[in-house]
Amino acid sequence: MSATLRRLATLLAVLVALPVLPAHAATPSIPDRIATGWQTDRIFVDSRIAPAIPTTELDRIRAESERAGFAVYVALVPRTPYLREKLYDLPTLLQARVGQPGLYIVRVVSDDYWTGVEQLFRPGGLKGRDITSVRADDPQRRQIVDDRPAPQIVRTIQQAETAYDGRPLPPAPASDLKPPRRADTPSITDQEDRAAFIGLGVGGFAGFVLVLVLNRRRRRPATRPKADEPTAYRDQIRQQADQLIRRAARSIRQLEKRPNLSLTQLDQRDDANRRLEAARTLRADQPDDLLAVTGALVLARQAQQAVGGTVKPPCFFDPTHRTGTTRVAWADGVEVPACRTCAQRLHKGKTPYGLQVSRSTGLLGRGREVVPYWTLDPEDSPMVASGFGALTDDLAERVCKRPEDVR
Ligand SMILES: [Zn+2]
Repeated sequence: MSATLRRLATLLAVLVALPVLPAHAATPSIPDRIATGWQTDRIFVDSRIAPAIPTTELDRIRAESERAGFAVYVALVPRTPYLREKLYDLPTLLQARVGQPGLYIVRVVSDDYWTGVEQLFRPGGLKGRDITSVRADDPQRRQIVDDRPAPQIVRTIQQAETAYDGRPLPPAPASDLKPPRRADTPSITDQEDRAAFIGLGVGGFAGFVLVLVLNRRRRRPATRPKADEPTAYRDQIRQQADQLIRRAARSIRQLEKRPNLSLTQLDQRDDANRRLEAARTLRADQPDDLLAVTGALVLARQAQQAVGGTVKPPCFFDPTHRTGTTRVAWADGVEVPACRTCAQRLHKGKTPYGLQVSRSTGLLGRGREVVPYWTLDPEDSPMVASGFGALTDDLAERVCKRPEDVR
């Protein structure tokens, strides 16, 4: 990150850490404020983050919007508890308020990275190629930088253009791409960046509580003896994940073939695609990581469930178990979903065995020990931080927004 970007990121982090607007009746809702803003300018920037966004970024978004050949509505907003729940509904809510066809893009900033959703509404309800499938075919989709808003938005507009009239997707400029992945340890700069955002990065109060709980658990002595990396087990989970990914993709294709999908079915399809893409990301990026292949298994299973309309949380203790149908009290008043077997163990006062992972020990990190996954540092993995989505149902979002941080 350049010095300017780092300053921008720090400023954003400070702004986002400010208390959010209280949800009293006098405050217009987020969709209302955005829709009102769009009456004068189709690029809406929330006043809380406006000072931190360079005009060059906005100029670039504006220029690309004007080239599109359809209306492009863009909203740049800070992450709030409302958005954590409603983000994926926002394009539909906004289009209902504006009443015009076009591309609706909402980008949310949290700490130093941008994430978001978009939806393309064609005139007269015409159907065409889905923007999600264009993105899935875009080989550069995961290389676009996300520490400033314009590159991802410009790419989204280009993907929508391809979906709209089939024009070819241009290559993204090199200045919009992340540097190639390093196989070695993180640089000093990365470590500084990460240190600067500790305490802000986990996303709200639930995350904060979780970190406290997990940190407390981590201090307890490991109960498992040293052991080898469970590779056979990992390979087995990987196979299951691949099978579930294929099955979910097939279900989504079948859903898409049905004529006249309702709004609810379209939402279910989008939710399924989001989870499936995250599953594929984990599988492609970290084929040898037990946490990643297990995360892929959970997300693929949920993608399949999303097609049917009911997504279930995994068993917190071991996400490869049957889904977490029972809520059980875990540490410090935190409730977690558990499968029936794990719930029964807890009722007997025993700790479920849990998904075991290998971690390095000792000063030089040369020793290995096998521990329950929830004793690992939540900062290091979205799977640990979200309990594979059992604690907060945002694993897909966490995986797709910054794959370079996923371990
Ligand atoms: Zn279980």
